[in-house]
Amino acid sequence: MSDCVPQQKYFQKKETFLFLAILVVKKLKMIFNGNQLANSILQTLRVTSKIKPKLGICLVGDSPASKSYVNRKLKACQEINVDAEVFNFSENVEQDQLIKHIQQMNHDGILVQLPLPLHLNKLDIIHSIPYEKDVDCLHMHNLQRILVYGELCEMLPCTPAAVLQILDYYDVNVIGKKVTVIGRSFLVGLPLSLLLQKRNATVTVCHRETLNLDQHIMNADIVISAAGHPKLVRNVKQGAIVIDVGISQGEKKGRIVGDVDIDVVKNQASLITPVPGGVGPMTVCMLMRNLCNIWKKKQGQPVYINPKLSDAYLND
Ligand code: NAD
Repeated sequence: MSDCVPQQKYFQKKETFLFLAILVVKKLKMIFNGNQLANSILQTLRVTSKIKPKLGICLVGDSPASKSYVNRKLKACQEINVDAEVFNFSENVEQDQLIKHIQQMNHDGILVQLPLPLHLNKLDIIHSIPYEKDVDCLHMHNLQRILVYGELCEMLPCTPAAVLQILDYYDVNVIGKKVTVIGRSFLVGLPLSLLLQKRNATVTVCHRETLNLDQHIMNADIVISAAGHPKLVRNVKQGAIVIDVGISQGEKKGRIVGDVDIDVVKNQASLITPVPGGVGPMTVCMLMRNLCNIWKKKQGQPVYINPKLSDAYLND
């Protein structure tokens, strides 16, 4: 009997430890840490050669939000040891002047920070970037390639790529899963829904005019919200995966919030991405991956293509 007691205690301790470990793992799985994953991917992108790629950024006006996004991109460039240059234009810059400047840029990757003032034609400006330098992957030529080749392209739109990378990080297989994407912009929702279909998910795309949005959300195994509307997603199916792309000003000044009511939804979801600190840092990270791929392609080196894609990826 006396022999048994310490053993029992040992098992009790072991069980408690296992229980706590499972809790910790579940907790870690529950709320995604975008900064952590982005930093670890950035480490793998670090450029060690003497000659390195150069990113050129055009920034129009002085919106604090745009400046802050540009600063994050500059910081990421520093982290992976590539050069970057920012060109500032006044809010009133003329379209021709901006386009002329873009056409003269000799950088390896070029991007124009969005949004642009209303007098500028966003599409014309994006299309003045040579498509092979379009590091944001917004040029029609690059979007057409996505339509055909999906993730086999060496450049992917950054936010959709960030979402897919998060799913891969958690080994989420979307084949046959019901995915509701809220938002259909050419920047996020549209290319993302396309790429998810190519992964064989069953995708429902919702937008401003969608009726019964809550039903489409409740029906989904995976909800991805890219609307820019706080508390749009208030309830999800128990165990659903919830990825919050949206960014809006919160009620408290200077605080940004996503589309998801995280306080409620975190108790229903099996995985949720926070705002800030979720998709945002991953988007910048994917931008860096595009830049490195542009550079590698130029150097005749093999580019990064998602190694997790199955052989059946482009069957249809
Ligand atoms: P957008 O304004 O071009 O598109 C918004 C889309 O959401 C539209 O298709 C619209 O129909 C839909 N929508 C808006 N309100 C809706 C509602 N109440 N119900 C259903 N659908 C609704 O914006 P975007 O460029 O696609 O960006 C979407 C959001 O994602 C914004 O908040 C933006 O700031 C954010 N964003 C975040 C990142 C990131 O890295 N985290 C990157 C890009 C964009």
